Amino acid sequence: MTKGIIFKIKKYALHDGPGIRTTVFFKGCPLSCRWCHNPEGIDPRPQTMSRRTLSGKINETVGTVIGVDELVKEIEKDLLFYDESGGALDTSGFAPPAVVDLILPRLQLVLFDLKIMDAKQHHRYTGVSNRIILENLKRIAGSETPVRIRVPLIPGITDGDDNIAEIVRFAGALKTIQGVDLLPFHRIGGEKYRRLGLTDNMAGTVPPVPERVEEIKNRFESARFDVSIGG
Ligand code: SF4
Repeated sequence: MTKGIIFKIKKYALHDGPGIRTTVFFKGCPLSCRWCHNPEGIDPRPQTMSRRTLSGKINETVGTVIGVDELVKEIEKDLLFYDESGGALDTSGFAPPAVVDLILPRLQLVLFDLKIMDAKQHHRYTGVSNRIILENLKRIAGSETPVRIRVPLIPGITDGDDNIAEIVRFAGALKTIQGVDLLPFHRIGGEKYRRLGLTDNMAGTVPPVPERVEEIKNRFESARFDVSIGG
């Protein structure tokens, strides 16, 4: 039986797309974005994460191996909510095209991350090439499935004028882009790095100022995109 490793199942989630969903957080993300606020999702193996309690520090294991059948059974418990609100896949887009082709007919909406357009910078900050990501985005946008592009606004990394202009240009040439979600950097995941014993490379970074976020929003709106902040 096919198995995977997950670190969280979040029910009745209202973030990350429209409607109500069950979000399954997998371990083993093929990227390692410097700003990731779910660093426990990068290493494919179970990890130890510490937590402070009133009685001292305790260690917990993050990551559970689960079979596809068991996971589907869990997700299906709330089928009624998905039928009411529509289903969505949230993805980094880094997957073999054959996998994209396989799941595409089953999707109602794809939330697709577009982070850095420059190939070298993408590799530097995420650990992988963006070639397959851009190809997959074109592939999905060439189908009937609507797509929302999600752009993390990471100060000094993704929020530069050149990168934003290139994303606007690239997305503007695709046909099924329903809108753009801008995701300003925040410090919420910072604590997790310490708990995992990892270095937080973004420790000194402050979230983008609202004026800059608004400026970027205007750029996308000028190109006729429906834009939300926070997604
Ligand atoms: S794509 Fe990047 S930000 Fe998203 S989970 Fe993977 S490493 Fe984290």
